[in-house]
Amino acid sequence: MIPVTKSYLPSLEEYNNYLKKIWENSWLTNRGELVQELEQKLCSYLEVPNLLFVNNGTIALQIAIKALELEGEVITTPFSYVATTSSIVWENCKPIFVDIDEKTLCINADLIENAITEKTTGILATHVYGIPCDVEKIERIANKHNLKVIYDAAHCFGVKYKGQSLLNYGNISTLSFHATKLFHTGEGGGIVANDKEVFHKIFYMHNFGHNGQEAFFGIGVNGKSSELHAAMGLSVLPYIDTIVAKRKLLSQQYDTLLQDSSLTKPHLPLDTEPNYSYYPVIFRSEEILLAVKEELNKNNIFPRRYFYPSLNNLPYLEYQSCPISEKIAEQVLCLPLYYELELESVTQITTIIKNKAN
Ligand SMILES: *Cc1c(COP(=O)(O)O)cnc(C)c1O
Repeated sequence: MIPVTKSYLPSLEEYNNYLKKIWENSWLTNRGELVQELEQKLCSYLEVPNLLFVNNGTIALQIAIKALELEGEVITTPFSYVATTSSIVWENCKPIFVDIDEKTLCINADLIENAITEKTTGILATHVYGIPCDVEKIERIANKHNLKVIYDAAHCFGVKYKGQSLLNYGNISTLSFHATKLFHTGEGGGIVANDKEVFHKIFYMHNFGHNGQEAFFGIGVNGKSSELHAAMGLSVLPYIDTIVAKRKLLSQQYDTLLQDSSLTKPHLPLDTEPNYSYYPVIFRSEEILLAVKEELNKNNIFPRRYFYPSLNNLPYLEYQSCPISEKIAEQVLCLPLYYELELESVTQITTIIKNKAN
Protein backbone atom coordinates (compact mmCIF):
# COMPACT_ATOMS: atom_id res chain seq x y z
CA MET A 1 0.00 0.00 0.00
CA ILE A 2 1.30 3.45 -0.92
CA PRO A 3 -0.34 6.23 1.14
CA VAL A 4 -0.04 9.96 0.37
CA THR A 5 2.38 10.31 3.27
CA LYS A 6 3.99 8.28 6.00
CA SER A 7 5.50 9.62 9.21
CA TYR A 8 9.25 9.36 9.55
CA LEU A 9 9.98 7.26 12.61
CA PRO A 10 13.37 7.44 14.33
CA SER A 11 14.86 4.26 15.75
CA LEU A 12 13.14 3.04 18.90
CA GLU A 13 16.51 3.07 20.61
CA GLU A 14 16.94 6.81 20.05
CA TYR A 15 13.44 7.55 21.26
CA ASN A 16 14.09 5.30 24.26
CA ASN A 17 17.17 7.30 25.20
CA TYR A 18 14.98 10.35 25.56
CA LEU A 19 12.34 8.36 27.43
CA LYS A 20 15.03 7.32 29.92
CA LYS A 21 15.65 10.99 30.68
CA ILE A 22 11.94 11.48 31.27
CA TRP A 23 11.90 8.53 33.68
CA GLU A 24 14.98 9.85 35.47
CA ASN A 25 13.48 13.31 35.85
CA SER A 26 9.96 12.03 36.62
CA TRP A 27 8.81 15.05 34.70
CA LEU A 28 6.16 14.66 31.98
CA THR A 29 4.91 18.10 31.11
CA ASN A 30 4.80 21.79 32.12
CA ARG A 31 7.81 22.97 30.18
CA GLY A 32 10.26 20.25 31.04
CA GLU A 33 13.84 19.88 29.96
CA LEU A 34 13.05 18.21 26.63
CA VAL A 35 10.42 20.76 25.61
CA GLN A 36 12.93 23.54 26.21
CA GLU A 37 15.71 21.67 24.44
CA LEU A 38 13.47 21.13 21.41
CA GLU A 39 12.48 24.80 21.32
CA GLN A 40 16.12 25.86 21.35
CA LYS A 41 17.11 23.41 18.64
CA LEU A 42 14.17 24.45 16.48
CA CYS A 43 15.04 28.13 16.88
CA SER A 44 18.55 27.52 15.67
CA TYR A 45 17.60 25.08 12.89
CA LEU A 46 14.86 27.37 11.56
CA GLU A 47 16.82 30.57 12.17
CA VAL A 48 14.01 32.33 14.01
CA PRO A 49 14.31 34.59 17.08
CA ASN A 50 11.86 32.56 19.17
CA LEU A 51 9.57 29.56 18.93
CA LEU A 52 7.00 28.26 21.35
CA PHE A 53 6.25 24.54 21.17
CA VAL A 54 2.51 23.97 21.58
CA ASN A 55 0.29 20.90 21.43
CA ASN A 56 -0.95 21.33 17.85
CA GLY A 57 -1.03 23.66 14.87
CA THR A 58 -4.66 24.59 15.39
CA ILE A 59 -4.21 25.86 18.94
CA ALA A 60 -1.22 27.79 17.56
CA LEU A 61 -3.57 29.60 15.16
CA GLN A 62 -6.17 30.23 17.86
CA ILE A 63 -3.61 31.63 20.27
CA ALA A 64 -2.19 33.82 17.48
CA ILE A 65 -5.62 35.28 16.70
CA LYS A 66 -6.28 35.85 20.40
CA ALA A 67 -2.88 37.38 21.13
CA LEU A 68 -3.19 39.88 18.29
CA GLU A 69 -6.71 40.71 19.48
CA LEU A 70 -8.31 40.16 16.11
CA GLU A 71 -12.04 40.81 15.97
CA GLY A 72 -14.65 41.60 13.37
CA GLU A 73 -13.44 40.57 9.93
CA VAL A 74 -10.30 38.61 9.11
CA ILE A 75 -9.22 38.37 5.49
CA THR A 76 -8.14 34.85 4.62
CA THR A 77 -7.52 32.28 1.90
CA PRO A 78 -10.11 29.73 0.82
CA PHE A 79 -7.39 27.31 -0.28
CA SER A 80 -5.94 25.69 2.83
CA TYR A 81 -6.69 23.05 5.40
CA VAL A 82 -9.96 23.63 7.29
CA ALA A 83 -8.13 24.65 10.50
CA THR A 84 -7.17 28.00 8.93
CA THR A 85 -10.81 29.01 8.58
CA SER A 86 -12.25 27.20 11.59
CA SER A 87 -9.78 28.95 13.92
CA ILE A 88 -11.06 32.34 12.75
CA VAL A 89 -14.67 31.30 13.35
CA TRP A 90 -13.78 29.64 16.69
CA GLU A 91 -12.29 32.95 17.84
CA ASN A 92 -15.56 34.72 16.98
CA CYS A 93 -14.26 36.50 13.89
CA LYS A 94 -15.75 36.47 10.43
CA PRO A 95 -13.58 35.00 7.66
CA ILE A 96 -13.59 37.12 4.53
CA PHE A 97 -12.31 35.03 1.65
CA VAL A 98 -10.07 36.56 -0.96
CA ASP A 99 -9.52 34.35 -3.98
CA ILE A 100 -6.13 32.81 -4.72
CA ASP A 101 -3.47 33.48 -7.28
CA GLU A 102 -3.72 30.89 -10.03
CA LYS A 103 0.06 30.44 -10.14
CA THR A 104 1.11 30.17 -6.48
CA LEU A 105 -2.29 29.03 -5.11
CA CYS A 106 -1.74 31.45 -2.20
CA ILE A 107 -4.05 34.39 -1.45
CA ASN A 108 -4.05 36.90 -4.33
CA ALA A 109 -2.54 39.97 -2.69
CA ASP A 110 -3.85 42.21 -5.48
CA LEU A 111 -7.41 41.46 -4.36
CA ILE A 112 -6.90 42.08 -0.64
CA GLU A 113 -7.46 45.86 -0.53
CA ASN A 114 -10.86 45.49 -2.16
CA ALA A 115 -11.96 43.24 0.68
CA ILE A 116 -10.92 45.60 3.49
CA THR A 117 -13.75 47.29 5.40
CA GLU A 118 -13.96 49.25 8.66
CA LYS A 119 -14.37 45.94 10.46
CA THR A 120 -11.18 44.35 9.12
CA THR A 121 -8.54 43.76 11.81
CA GLY A 122 -6.21 41.22 10.27
CA ILE A 123 -5.05 38.95 7.48
CA LEU A 124 -4.57 35.20 8.00
CA ALA A 125 -2.93 33.68 4.94
CA THR A 126 -1.46 30.24 4.28
CA HIS A 127 1.85 29.60 2.52
CA VAL A 128 0.13 26.64 0.94
CA TYR A 129 2.37 23.59 0.23
CA GLY A 130 5.21 25.75 1.59
CA ILE A 131 4.91 28.22 -1.33
CA PRO A 132 5.46 31.76 -0.02
CA CYS A 133 2.58 34.24 -0.19
CA ASP A 134 3.37 37.63 -1.70
CA VAL A 135 4.76 38.64 1.70
CA GLU A 136 6.07 42.04 0.59
CA LYS A 137 2.78 43.19 -0.90
CA ILE A 138 0.84 41.87 2.09
CA GLU A 139 3.16 43.76 4.43
CA ARG A 140 2.63 47.01 2.52
CA ILE A 141 -1.15 46.58 2.63
CA ALA A 142 -1.11 45.67 6.32
CA ASN A 143 0.99 48.72 7.20
CA LYS A 144 -1.18 51.04 5.16
CA HIS A 145 -4.42 49.83 6.76
CA ASN A 146 -3.06 49.05 10.20
CA LEU A 147 -3.81 45.34 10.04
CA LYS A 148 -2.12 42.43 11.78
CA VAL A 149 -0.74 39.55 9.71
CA ILE A 150 -0.69 35.89 10.69
CA TYR A 151 0.80 33.28 8.40
CA ASP A 152 -0.38 29.72 8.67
CA ALA A 153 3.03 28.22 8.00
CA ALA A 154 1.99 24.63 8.74
CA HIS A 155 3.69 23.53 5.50
CA CYS A 156 6.77 25.71 5.75
CA PHE A 157 9.21 23.93 8.03
CA GLY A 158 12.64 25.05 6.84
CA VAL A 159 11.44 27.03 3.81
CA LYS A 160 13.59 30.04 3.03
CA TYR A 161 12.61 33.11 1.09
CA LYS A 162 15.14 35.70 -0.05
CA GLY A 163 17.82 34.08 2.05
CA GLN A 164 15.95 33.99 5.34
CA SER A 165 13.32 31.93 7.10
CA LEU A 166 9.85 32.42 5.66
CA LEU A 167 8.67 32.36 9.29
CA ASN A 168 10.16 35.81 9.87
CA TYR A 169 7.43 37.53 7.84
CA GLY A 170 4.18 38.81 9.36
CA ASN A 171 3.42 39.42 13.04
CA ILE A 172 3.07 35.73 13.81
CA SER A 173 3.71 32.48 11.95
CA THR A 174 2.26 29.20 13.11
CA LEU A 175 3.56 25.70 12.42
CA SER A 176 2.11 22.22 12.67
CA PHE A 177 4.14 19.23 13.80
CA HIS A 178 1.31 16.77 13.22
CA ALA A 179 2.35 13.21 12.27
CA THR A 180 1.59 13.92 8.59
CA LYS A 181 3.81 16.99 8.39
CA LEU A 182 7.42 17.18 7.16
CA PHE A 183 8.80 17.52 10.70
CA HIS A 184 6.60 15.98 13.36
CA THR A 185 6.24 15.34 17.07
CA GLY A 186 3.21 13.03 16.70
CA GLU A 187 0.92 15.91 17.58
CA GLY A 188 2.38 19.37 18.00
CA GLY A 189 2.75 22.87 16.70
CA GLY A 190 4.84 25.99 16.96
CA ILE A 191 4.38 29.74 17.19
CA VAL A 192 6.94 32.29 16.02
CA ALA A 193 6.42 35.99 16.77
CA ASN A 194 8.57 38.87 15.60
CA ASP A 195 7.77 41.14 18.52
CA LYS A 196 9.00 40.34 22.05
CA GLU A 197 5.85 41.62 23.73
CA VAL A 198 3.65 39.57 21.46
CA PHE A 199 5.79 36.52 22.20
CA HIS A 200 5.43 37.14 25.91
CA LYS A 201 1.66 37.27 25.54
CA ILE A 202 1.63 34.07 23.52
CA PHE A 203 3.83 32.47 26.14
CA TYR A 204 1.48 33.12 29.05
CA MET A 205 -1.59 32.40 26.93
CA HIS A 206 -0.39 28.85 26.20
CA ASN A 207 -0.07 28.22 29.94
CA PHE A 208 -3.45 29.32 31.34
CA GLY A 209 -2.23 32.92 31.62
CA HIS A 210 0.00 32.04 34.58
CA ASN A 211 2.44 34.55 36.02
CA GLY A 212 4.08 32.22 38.52
CA GLN A 213 1.96 29.81 40.55
CA GLU A 214 -0.53 32.21 42.04
CA ALA A 215 -0.81 35.18 39.70
CA PHE A 216 -2.06 35.72 36.18
CA PHE A 217 -1.02 38.02 33.36
CA GLY A 218 -4.33 37.52 31.58
CA ILE A 219 -6.57 34.89 30.07
CA GLY A 220 -5.00 31.71 28.76
CA VAL A 221 -5.66 28.22 27.57
CA ASN A 222 -3.78 24.93 27.77
CA GLY A 223 -1.54 24.90 24.70
CA LYS A 224 1.36 23.09 26.36
CA SER A 225 2.95 20.03 24.84
CA SER A 226 4.55 17.19 26.77
CA GLU A 227 8.00 15.71 27.25
CA LEU A 228 6.86 12.62 25.31
CA HIS A 229 6.09 14.73 22.26
CA ALA A 230 9.30 16.70 22.63
CA ALA A 231 11.18 13.39 22.77
CA MET A 232 9.72 12.46 19.39
CA GLY A 233 10.72 15.83 17.95
CA LEU A 234 14.25 15.58 19.32
CA SER A 235 14.57 12.10 17.81
CA VAL A 236 13.33 13.20 14.36
CA LEU A 237 15.12 16.56 14.09
CA PRO A 238 18.65 15.17 13.50
CA TYR A 239 17.31 13.44 10.36
CA ILE A 240 15.45 16.38 8.88
CA ASP A 241 18.08 17.23 6.25
CA THR A 242 18.22 13.58 5.17
CA ILE A 243 14.42 13.49 4.98
CA VAL A 244 14.28 16.67 2.88
CA ALA A 245 17.06 15.42 0.58
CA LYS A 246 15.18 12.20 -0.15
CA ARG A 247 11.97 14.12 -0.80
CA LYS A 248 13.84 16.39 -3.15
CA LEU A 249 15.12 13.40 -5.09
CA LEU A 250 11.61 11.93 -5.32
CA SER A 251 10.15 15.28 -6.38
CA GLN A 252 12.75 15.63 -9.12
CA GLN A 253 11.89 12.14 -10.31
CA TYR A 254 8.20 13.12 -10.47
CA ASP A 255 9.19 16.30 -12.36
CA THR A 256 11.19 14.37 -14.93
CA LEU A 257 8.62 11.67 -15.47
CA LEU A 258 5.67 14.07 -15.66
CA GLN A 259 7.39 16.51 -18.01
CA ASP A 260 5.55 15.19 -21.06
CA SER A 261 2.18 14.95 -19.32
CA SER A 262 -0.82 17.27 -19.40
CA LEU A 263 -0.47 18.06 -15.69
CA THR A 264 0.67 21.39 -14.31
CA LYS A 265 2.26 22.34 -11.02
CA PRO A 266 1.92 25.40 -8.79
CA HIS A 267 4.55 28.03 -9.33
CA LEU A 268 7.31 28.70 -6.80
CA PRO A 269 8.30 32.39 -6.52
CA LEU A 270 11.92 33.30 -7.32
CA ASP A 271 14.37 33.20 -4.42
CA THR A 272 12.51 30.41 -2.61
CA GLU A 273 14.31 27.45 -1.07
CA PRO A 274 11.52 24.86 -0.87
CA ASN A 275 11.15 21.98 1.60
CA TYR A 276 9.46 19.41 -0.68
CA SER A 277 6.66 18.92 1.81
CA TYR A 278 4.03 18.07 -0.82
CA TYR A 279 3.83 17.11 -4.47
CA PRO A 280 0.64 18.72 -5.79
CA VAL A 281 -0.38 18.34 -9.43
CA ILE A 282 -3.22 20.04 -11.28
CA PHE A 283 -5.31 18.12 -13.80
CA ARG A 284 -7.18 19.66 -16.72
CA SER A 285 -10.52 18.71 -15.17
CA GLU A 286 -12.04 17.11 -12.09
CA GLU A 287 -13.28 14.28 -14.28
CA ILE A 288 -9.71 13.33 -15.25
CA LEU A 289 -8.56 13.70 -11.63
CA LEU A 290 -11.27 11.30 -10.44
CA ALA A 291 -10.45 8.77 -13.15
CA VAL A 292 -6.75 8.87 -12.25
CA LYS A 293 -7.47 8.64 -8.54
CA GLU A 294 -9.68 5.60 -9.07
CA GLU A 295 -7.02 3.87 -11.16
CA LEU A 296 -4.33 4.63 -8.56
CA ASN A 297 -6.59 3.33 -5.78
CA LYS A 298 -7.07 0.08 -7.74
CA ASN A 299 -3.29 -0.27 -7.60
CA ASN A 300 -3.25 0.33 -3.86
CA ILE A 301 -1.93 3.89 -4.25
CA PHE A 302 -3.73 6.56 -2.25
CA PRO A 303 -3.07 10.18 -3.20
CA ARG A 304 -5.16 12.81 -1.38
CA ARG A 305 -7.30 15.70 -2.49
CA TYR A 306 -5.42 18.38 -0.56
CA PHE A 307 -7.25 20.74 -0.49
CA TYR A 308 -10.84 19.94 -1.25
CA PRO A 309 -13.39 21.44 -0.87
CA SER A 310 -12.48 25.08 -1.22
CA LEU A 311 -13.12 26.53 2.26
CA ASN A 312 -15.58 29.18 1.06
CA ASN A 313 -17.95 26.22 0.62
CA LEU A 314 -17.90 25.20 4.30
CA PRO A 315 -21.44 24.36 5.44
CA TYR A 316 -21.30 26.61 8.53
CA LEU A 317 -20.45 29.75 6.56
CA GLU A 318 -22.43 32.03 4.33
CA TYR A 319 -21.22 31.38 0.79
CA GLN A 320 -18.69 33.83 -0.70
CA SER A 321 -17.61 33.29 -4.30
CA CYS A 322 -13.96 32.32 -5.03
CA PRO A 323 -13.97 30.85 -8.54
CA ILE A 324 -10.24 30.20 -8.85
CA SER A 325 -9.94 28.44 -5.53
CA GLU A 326 -13.01 26.34 -6.32
CA LYS A 327 -11.60 25.37 -9.71
CA ILE A 328 -8.17 24.49 -8.30
CA ALA A 329 -9.69 22.51 -5.41
CA GLU A 330 -11.52 20.38 -7.97
CA GLN A 331 -8.42 19.75 -10.06
CA VAL A 332 -5.55 19.36 -7.60
CA LEU A 333 -4.23 16.13 -6.18
CA CYS A 334 -1.26 15.52 -3.87
CA LEU A 335 0.83 12.55 -4.95
CA PRO A 336 2.56 10.22 -2.47
CA LEU A 337 5.73 11.75 -1.05
CA TYR A 338 7.58 10.51 2.01
CA TYR A 339 11.02 9.40 3.12
CA GLU A 340 10.48 5.66 2.61
CA LEU A 341 8.88 6.01 -0.82
CA GLU A 342 10.95 4.31 -3.51
CA LEU A 343 11.96 5.81 -6.83
CA GLU A 344 10.41 2.81 -8.59
CA SER A 345 7.08 3.67 -6.98
CA VAL A 346 7.28 7.15 -8.49
CA THR A 347 7.77 5.51 -11.88
CA GLN A 348 4.76 3.27 -11.31
CA ILE A 349 2.59 6.17 -10.15
CA THR A 350 3.50 8.45 -13.06
CA THR A 351 2.96 5.67 -15.59
CA ILE A 352 -0.57 5.12 -14.33
CA ILE A 353 -1.24 8.87 -14.34
CA LYS A 354 0.01 9.37 -17.87
CA ASN A 355 -2.01 6.44 -19.19
CA LYS A 356 -5.21 7.97 -17.82
CA ALA A 357 -4.59 11.70 -18.07
CA ASN A 358 -2.86 12.28 -21.40
C1 LIG B 1 -2.06 20.53 9.41
C2 LIG B 1 -2.54 21.93 9.23
C3 LIG B 1 -3.09 22.69 10.27
C4 LIG B 1 -3.44 22.08 11.60
O1 LIG B 1 -2.41 21.57 12.30
P1 LIG B 1 -2.67 20.50 13.47
O2 LIG B 1 -1.34 20.35 14.08
O3 LIG B 1 -3.16 19.25 12.81
O4 LIG B 1 -3.69 21.06 14.39
C5 LIG B 1 -3.38 24.01 10.04
N1 LIG B 1 -3.20 24.58 8.84
C6 LIG B 1 -2.72 23.89 7.80
C7 LIG B 1 -2.53 24.58 6.49
C8 LIG B 1 -2.40 22.53 7.94
O5 LIG B 1 -1.97 21.82 6.89
